[in-house]
Amino acid sequence: GGRAPGEAALIDAAADRLARESAPRLRRVINLTGTVLHTNLGRAPLPEEAIAAAAEAMRHPTTLEFDLATGRRGERDDHLRGLLCALTGAEDATVVNNNAAAVLLVLNTLAKGREVPVSRGELIEIGGSFRMPEIMARAGCRLVEVGTTNRTHARDYQGAIGPRTALLMRVHQANFAISGFTARVPDRKLAAIAKAAGLPFIADLGAGALVDLARFGLPPEPTPADALAAGADLVTFSGDKLLGGPQAGLVVGRAELVRRLNRNPLKRALRLDKGRIAALEAVLRLHLAPDRLVARLPALALLARPEASIRAAAERLAAGLAPALGPGWRIAVEPCRSQIGSGALPVERLPSVAVTVAGRRPDLLAARLRALPVPVLGRVADGRLWLDCRCLTEADEAVLAGILPACSGQAI
Ligand SMILES: *Cc1c(COP(=O)(O)O)cnc(C)c1O
Repeated sequence: GGRAPGEAALIDAAADRLARESAPRLRRVINLTGTVLHTNLGRAPLPEEAIAAAAEAMRHPTTLEFDLATGRRGERDDHLRGLLCALTGAEDATVVNNNAAAVLLVLNTLAKGREVPVSRGELIEIGGSFRMPEIMARAGCRLVEVGTTNRTHARDYQGAIGPRTALLMRVHQANFAISGFTARVPDRKLAAIAKAAGLPFIADLGAGALVDLARFGLPPEPTPADALAAGADLVTFSGDKLLGGPQAGLVVGRAELVRRLNRNPLKRALRLDKGRIAALEAVLRLHLAPDRLVARLPALALLARPEASIRAAAERLAAGLAPALGPGWRIAVEPCRSQIGSGALPVERLPSVAVTVAGRRPDLLAARLRALPVPVLGRVADGRLWLDCRCLTEADEAVLAGILPACSGQAI
């Protein structure tokens, strides 16, 4: 028998809806925004070693909190402690959910009910809900603002120290720069002031590259080892910024202080799961061989990618886009500047190469690329769509080869 009129359309509509509703909401995208460690896109891509380790830990029982030597209970942080100490020169280390949690745990443990002087030039907001004054309030401590926005001196800290002071804190000016008529107290000096007053000195680094980025042709960023060597008693930093690992907050420093962090009940609420511990261990292991890091750590490979390689990728993309987009668009390969992202090295821009597409409605073109089976994300500026090819990987190119032709039928 024949189908009733409209039946085919009804079946198609139902199939479409089923496909839409059963598709995952969290989807892979192709990041051509020009921001490498893009917080909204999940920051660092993980190395294969870390992905394999996380999958293994998720699939099977593990020694997460089990000591094979004694057959007794172990500590989940023990898998990371030795590596973090070896890589930073710290006495001890602990790990939590993210760097915001690390700062919260440190302040709540060491400064609850007491005062913490912080320079007015360091009262940062890291996007969204991480604002230093609010984290301080939630940690239960009282922020004492010292100095001014552009200039803070040793005497400002010294004048703020009193019987209720818990510690001195330096917050890395992670996502902005103050330039011009400025003054700040160097870490070494701040550590000496804290020590003279019998207080711990805490440094929140934010991005926290474990290796000197200058060796990869990148702008320098303070390392946890530098901060510890300058006299910091505890240093906090992120796992998924310049470290190139999973979301995590790392705290390294004096063993006695780390012990106090681990005894705080908040630590339990902020702890890492087995998948991320496995991934973090693998990423830290890669850092033991810094010479090979660029080849093995995708985040660093993208940041240090040679311009010629980006240009070649841009030219291939431009060639693939031309037939897919159809008439009405002017496609060019142009120099541009990538951002590191996640607030790391905010002022520095990395020379890069983009495919630009100019036409009447670049915003509609951007929407069309976002509607692809694997969405492609660019940036609209100066009346053009910019597709920065720094993060366009071979895997992305293979995907695009399959889906770009599908984009041609859709009118704008
Ligand atoms: C990014 C950053 C944070 C927050 O770290 P998350 O890992 O995003 O929680 C805190 N402090 C500084 C200085 C940062 O740069």
